[in-house]
Amino acid sequence: MLSIAERIEYINRRLPETTQLLAISKFHPASFIQEAYDAGQRLFGESREQELAQKQAELPKDIQWHFIGHLQTNKVKYIAPYVAMIHSVDSLRLLEEIDKQAKKCERTIDCLLELHVAQEESKFGFSFDEVRNLYEEKWLEKFPKVRVRGLMGMASNTDDDMQVRMEFASIASFFNEVQQKYDASVDTLSMGMTNDWKIAVEEGSTMVRIGSFIFGERNY
Ligand SMILES: *Cc1c(COP(=O)(O)O)cnc(C)c1O
Repeated sequence: MLSIAERIEYINRRLPETTQLLAISKFHPASFIQEAYDAGQRLFGESREQELAQKQAELPKDIQWHFIGHLQTNKVKYIAPYVAMIHSVDSLRLLEEIDKQAKKCERTIDCLLELHVAQEESKFGFSFDEVRNLYEEKWLEKFPKVRVRGLMGMASNTDDDMQVRMEFASIASFFNEVQQKYDASVDTLSMGMTNDWKIAVEEGSTMVRIGSFIFGERNY
């Protein structure tokens, strides 16, 4: 059995310098996060606002907490004071609320637009055309306290690697389009999880979100 530290090292050895590791610690105890922290890991991802608040209070203050789960607008206020990045922005209403809460905290919040690409599962996320529309209709300019840093995508949950690769490639090509046509400053393409991160990296991911490989199976 490899330790948490050894698993993190295994991944880091295989990531290009331009790809960051976000350790997904949802449903795992603070002691596991501390172990990863002691091994040098600073970026952690959580999917529930209350769980995140508890861990944030108890763990070292230089951890960068990323929110990756579906976020209800009435929960934004709880994470707005400290969250480093929200990966799961999937509606105009949510953008508006993040902007409002960021303003109250006198900060700017980094966000990613979540794309809906996978064939099944999540009903959340924007289509490519909806993202094009956000830029072309200047919606994002209405939210000055939201800084859109890029895109987050998930591939279909399938053993068909070719399918997964095609989905990541299409997200990456759309990311290039956004960079070239709309905003040259976007720099974050969040894609790749335990089962598909190697493919995601080959297709251009700049941030992989890995949970079970590092921390083991989750008990929901
Ligand atoms: C849980 C989760 C992950 C991590 O999944 P693993 O398969 O455990 O690596 C990554 N991204 C999102 C959005 C998640 O909800």
